[in-house]
Amino acid sequence: MKKFGKQLDRTDIVVVGAGLAGVCAAIIAARRGARVTLIEKENIPGGTAAGMRHRYLCGLFLNSDVLPRKYLNGGLTKEICEGLSPGVQPVRMGKVWLFPCDPQRLVIVLEEFLKHEKNIKVLYSSKILTCNYRGRHIESVRYSHHGKYRELKAAVFIDAGAGILLQKCGAAQLSDSTECPMSGFSLEMVGVTWDDVLPIRVPYVLYQAVKQRRLPLYARWTVVSTTENKERLYLKLSVPAGTKPALAKKISFAIVETLRRELPAFNSGKIAWQAHDVFSRDGDRLEGEYILKEKDVIKGKKFSDVIMKGAWPIEFWDPKRGPTYKYPNEDYYELPERSVKAKNVSNLFSSGRSVSAEPGAQASLRAGGLCLATGEAAGNAAVDYLKTHRAVTL
Ligand SMILES: Cc1cc2nc3c(=O)[nH]c(=O)nc-3n(C[C@H](O)[C@H](O)[C@H](O)COP(=O)(O)OP(=O)(O)OC[C@H]3O[C@@H](n4cnc5c(N)ncnc54)[C@H](O)[C@@H]3O)c2cc1C
Repeated sequence: MKKFGKQLDRTDIVVVGAGLAGVCAAIIAARRGARVTLIEKENIPGGTAAGMRHRYLCGLFLNSDVLPRKYLNGGLTKEICEGLSPGVQPVRMGKVWLFPCDPQRLVIVLEEFLKHEKNIKVLYSSKILTCNYRGRHIESVRYSHHGKYRELKAAVFIDAGAGILLQKCGAAQLSDSTECPMSGFSLEMVGVTWDDVLPIRVPYVLYQAVKQRRLPLYARWTVVSTTENKERLYLKLSVPAGTKPALAKKISFAIVETLRRELPAFNSGKIAWQAHDVFSRDGDRLEGEYILKEKDVIKGKKFSDVIMKGAWPIEFWDPKRGPTYKYPNEDYYELPERSVKAKNVSNLFSSGRSVSAEPGAQASLRAGGLCLATGEAAGNAAVDYLKTHRAVTL
């Protein structure tokens, strides 16, 4: 049996997971005066966005023919993006606008934002293990930190860990039997001679190898990108949900070998870094006071308790057909505050990939830019709860 230390630490708000959503939730709550502890199992912030080495943040703008002048959600989302790529304009890809970001800078910027907030205590390399709850109320979380087991009591809890806290505290979750979207694995190469046609050549070469059965079907959906100075190249693989990291690694070696053989630009390319994990697009979702529907996204539904706007298409990564996109019919849809509030646990909020939404709606909401915004919204909702229920003056 695990032995938890006798000392019980206390804070106002616990945020679990330092991905895009968790960082925003923690920062906004701290800025409004709450004492926040952010618990993250890895030793850096950024979660999936850092692990997948995102080159673009999605979901930040309206889909339009003209260069967007405004962020769909201002506030902290805008502040972080401006800190990330100052003065950089979004780039158009089909109907959507993407915000360029350097994945290594993303981690540094998130760390800087967190360090700036005196009210935040960040616990890296700390894994949530269990939750202590009474009736409809969470009292504390238990976590491991450098081999030690500790317990932390708080008034409010935010799940920004893609549903990990929901699982541990008996919160109602949405279980629907749709096929899981493909997960992702990424690697970084140096020494590749960049050429602007590589994003077309790479999938073509991989498609040929798939046709000749030298690579599995999903290898054809590998995406290639580079940094501003073209020094590093990123390969983003799509793999079936549930693929083990060792297998994803093996497939990525086979893909790199194929590219080295077929494309002279890759001849002297070396793998400089590989992800340690396979990253899932979905996760456990909260059953909140409102469940955002796929039709709400498509019809651009508006709410009186709006906390965030979204316009990113419903993006489904089918293991057999690859990516498909369904666009909202209206300019944008809204997410109500009720979708970040747990239905059956009074002091639990969720953000990012685990907000209360049908799979189709989550497939839009999970865009990185929208996870920043739901994080901020959950942080605000948590502070409002704290003020009303504990009558604290923040
Ligand atoms: C393959 C793939 C490609 C994508 N491409 C893009 C893209 O190009 N652009 C874009 O904008 N979006 C993209 N997305 C979507 C986007 O990256 C994610 O939806 C978003 O980053 C999720 O943010 P989050 O904060 O909700 O969760 P996460 O980033 O997953 O953060 C959850 C955090 O919780 C931590 N955690 C988990 N369990 C525990 C525990 N027990 N204890 C403590 N901490 C824990 C994790 O380590 C992690 O840091 C992609 C997603 C995938 C999977």
